[in-house]
Amino acid sequence: MKISKIFLYDERAIPEIGFSRLIDFLKQTFDVQVEQRKNIFQSANDSIAIEIAASRIFKTRQPFEKHEPTTEEVSFEKASFLDSTKTENIVMYDGFEFHKVVTKLIPENEMTSDQFHIIFTNKFTCTYDQTDFRYHGRALIASNPSIISTTGIIEAPAKPKAYYFELISNMTQGLNLESIKKKYQGMYLEYHDAKLSQVVEGYLLQAIFYYLTGDPFCDKRECRLFNAHWQKDLLYSQLEIAKLCDKHQEILNNW
Ligand SMILES: [Zn+2]
Repeated sequence: MKISKIFLYDERAIPEIGFSRLIDFLKQTFDVQVEQRKNIFQSANDSIAIEIAASRIFKTRQPFEKHEPTTEEVSFEKASFLDSTKTENIVMYDGFEFHKVVTKLIPENEMTSDQFHIIFTNKFTCTYDQTDFRYHGRALIASNPSIISTTGIIEAPAKPKAYYFELISNMTQGLNLESIKKKYQGMYLEYHDAKLSQVVEGYLLQAIFYYLTGDPFCDKRECRLFNAHWQKDLLYSQLEIAKLCDKHQEILNNW
């Protein structure tokens, strides 16, 4: 697969992704034309709002069942199209359903195979896993368009086991979330974390490698294509190592 142009769609609710920085990163890494776009939902209408609301997940241990959205849920989506900063609770969406809906927002003449679309969203995309029969958060839905969920980056790779343990044991004695957070600070990404932009670069690489080679991931932690299931590994691959392994660097050089 060849890419002649990348379209990058902003999520303005999360300025920490460093949108213009990422455009430079893509241009430098892939020597390709990059067009910046506003939020994908900018041109969305009411029927899109209904379809997005219908992709919500309520039963996390069952495969997707289309949800019949309430008026409030549709209004919530419509309001989020205008201002995506207003999110109180984390809503889970089926990643593949979500993908189907946002694909409709891309003009047909831009859907040729050499034009690659990457959409940032703060909506939380999840996919049902047939091996353990439950939904898991996903930072990346790799396809064209690819979706990078900023909430997924924070929520999908797990925090240290000791963090959860302390959280649970403290609940019985009156929870002091702030002190636990402080103790584990720096070991995982927080909302509006300044480190987010550099971490997102890794997900951009994974999205593009998926499109170019059919395989977005590397089994080496010492590579930005490593599929991190733990925050610790994510920060290690993206911030400490911050490069591709030799094999993937060579693929990139020959691209
Ligand atoms: Zn690699």
